Amino acid sequence: MTIHGVGLPHGRIEVVCGPMFSGKSEELIRRIKRAIIARQRVQVFKPAVDTRYSSTEVVSHGDLRLEATCVPSSAELAKRVSARTEVVGIDEAQFFDDDLASVCDALANRGVRVILAGLDMDYRGKPFTMMPRMLAIAEIVTKIQAVCMVCGAPASFSQRLSRDQKVVAIGSSETYEARCRRHFEPEEEQQIALTRRRAEVLKVPPQEADAAK
Ligand SMILES: [Zn+2]
Repeated sequence: MTIHGVGLPHGRIEVVCGPMFSGKSEELIRRIKRAIIARQRVQVFKPAVDTRYSSTEVVSHGDLRLEATCVPSSAELAKRVSARTEVVGIDEAQFFDDDLASVCDALANRGVRVILAGLDMDYRGKPFTMMPRMLAIAEIVTKIQAVCMVCGAPASFSQRLSRDQKVVAIGSSETYEARCRRHFEPEEEQQIALTRRRAEVLKVPPQEADAAK
């Protein structure tokens, strides 16, 4: 009796998503390290836009490190995946172009396990670029939560604390924080009110309160 597919690698797409500071990169690194222990051939990529700390490593907020290749586009990522690679990790997936979905699909179809980590929502609480599509086509989606910096509840939103309008502005602990639904304030007016309240608490002019976040 022939069992169809036995002996062939099973490709799949896994997505690890959630807000900033939820430990997405740590979870990606954990999965990749397990694959390395299992002696699988692994490659890790991240978008060239993410130059926060290092240009050759996935660097998580928790300071866990893993070697990664910076690529400017998903087409370049596809070109760089070796034919022998069994597991592909992708960090900061939300900064890739729309073709990432078809690139990941093609990799999974030829037996590669693809693991992506990325923000599911931007600072306005809106789905981030092609991430909704990635969530839809993935076999496994893990949505993780951070901790609300106001009340300590589980947090699914990334609160922007500056007035920088660029959606792709890379966050750090100085300009973003995790918030629960109750304390998430995505609108500009609410952000200005937030600055005023902060100014009252700090007893300084609003512009200084803005700088002192
Ligand atoms: Zn809260």
